[in-house]
Amino acid sequence: MRIIFLGPPGSGKGTQAKMIIKDHHVKQLSTGDLLREHRKNDTALGHKAQEYMDAGNLVPDDIILGMVAEELKKPELAAGYILDGFPRTCPQAEGLDKLLREDHKELDHVLVLNVPDEELIRRLTARRSCSQCGHIYNLVFNPPKKDGVCDIDGAELIHRSDDTEETVVNRLAVYKKQTLPLIDHYDQQGLIRYIDGTGNVQDIYKRILDVLR
Ligand code: AMP
Repeated sequence: MRIIFLGPPGSGKGTQAKMIIKDHHVKQLSTGDLLREHRKNDTALGHKAQEYMDAGNLVPDDIILGMVAEELKKPELAAGYILDGFPRTCPQAEGLDKLLREDHKELDHVLVLNVPDEELIRRLTARRSCSQCGHIYNLVFNPPKKDGVCDIDGAELIHRSDDTEETVVNRLAVYKKQTLPLIDHYDQQGLIRYIDGTGNVQDIYKRILDVLR
């Protein structure tokens, strides 16, 4: 199973990808998580990505494609993967097509999570994530039991520096301009499946499973 999650920031790509990998033999590959890991580890790639991420802009395609090409070689991804947050531009999608062709592999589905803008802004500004396990909370809809602390491992919850209202508005504009055109790209390959991304997390998951079945 090779799936792409397409959808604006805050549409639930990460949350739903984590639910799928729990129940299926696939791995999640999130370029946002990989970049944050690079920044945490103070790597050269992390330094290059920093200013783009803080402004809510996209990191250049060559950096992203190089990073993804390395990841896709890993044996643990051989059984399948969910791409979360990649590709985000036409050159990235074309780069992925080339990597897949070289590997004689194909994509199964491109899932597009639809959520209205006002809801995305509300979700993102109230989003918190665990600094250790990455579990995602929302202070309004899904708060932790104890303020500022992860229910699962007791680690500190963090507010991503690019989840402020100003940056979120820019990230949504960037999504519309640079990522939405990918729907056409994958529509031509017959891979687009629309999912209603509103409502309860479990209900959204059920809609996704219906499509995957
Ligand atoms: P995310 O966690 O997917 O919302 O990504 C956080 C930030 O990382 C984005 O706002 C971009 O700055 C950067 N980023 C993540 N994935 C990509 C990508 N595929 N192409 C370019 N930039 C990316």
